Amino acid sequence: MTFKGKTVFITGASRGIGRELAVAFAEAGANLFITYNRTAPEDTLARLSALDADVEAVQLDVADSTAAADAVRKCAERFGTVDVLINNAGVTKDGLLMRMKDEDWDAVMDTNLKGTFNMVKAAVKIMIKKRAGKIINIGSVIGSMGNAGQANYSASKAGLSGLTKSAARELAPRNIQVNLIAPGYISTDMTEALDDGTKNAILAMIPMKKLGTPRDVANAALFLASSASDYITGQEIHVNGGMYM
Ligand code: NDP
Repeated sequence: MTFKGKTVFITGASRGIGRELAVAFAEAGANLFITYNRTAPEDTLARLSALDADVEAVQLDVADSTAAADAVRKCAERFGTVDVLINNAGVTKDGLLMRMKDEDWDAVMDTNLKGTFNMVKAAVKIMIKKRAGKIINIGSVIGSMGNAGQANYSASKAGLSGLTKSAARELAPRNIQVNLIAPGYISTDMTEALDDGTKNAILAMIPMKKLGTPRDVANAALFLASSASDYITGQEIHVNGGMYM
């Protein structure tokens, strides 16, 4: 699978799944436009530079619609276009529903759901003009299953399913495919934060008895960004070791 000459825009690429997405697409020859919010993306940039990738990194809070539109404009100025948009930026602010603070609900919705809306809205202006594009939203198994203590996160990721399907229907006539990857539990900072009891309970729910890796998610993204998936839109690919089916 080659992405030589293609420009891939990835949000939240400073660490975790986003960093691995950037590395996987760089290995496949893509130009990378990556964003980070609070963590300087030095490690990602070092790995991309070792691959000789053409890369631009900018700070972006995806919840800010003006900043999201600016970032897309910068990408178009630097690389001429956006061929693939991957909405990976995401946060958790867990807590039981009864005690969840308004600001924790809002912060998760603003980043995970509205942030994706902001990015899609900005990028499709470019994709519609050239009548081509691939959009990949990173959801979560929790958006399908729900989870105690994650009402905000689950609702935001379930919202992404509706956003993905609606965008897929709107944009299909313009030759833009919009799909969602729903990872299960993947080894990153997000899952490192869980205590051992929770980790063991999670492992017990996974038929493959192991967490996934960021590369497992990147492999699905490579497929959905490639021409091998040109007749696939509005779909959800679960990458979860059989945890939810
Ligand atoms: P990490 O916490 O390791 O990384 C999250 C990334 O999102 C960081 O690069 C962070 O940037 C960025 N980010 C957070 N808030 C914002 C914001 N407001 N604007 C822009 N960027 C932001 O998470 P993962 O790599 O584990 O997760 C990546 C995606 O995959 C998320 O959408 C997550 O919900 C999803 N996912 C993860 C699973 C897992 O098990 N790890 C399971 C299912 C889904 P910075 O550090 O610079 O602030």
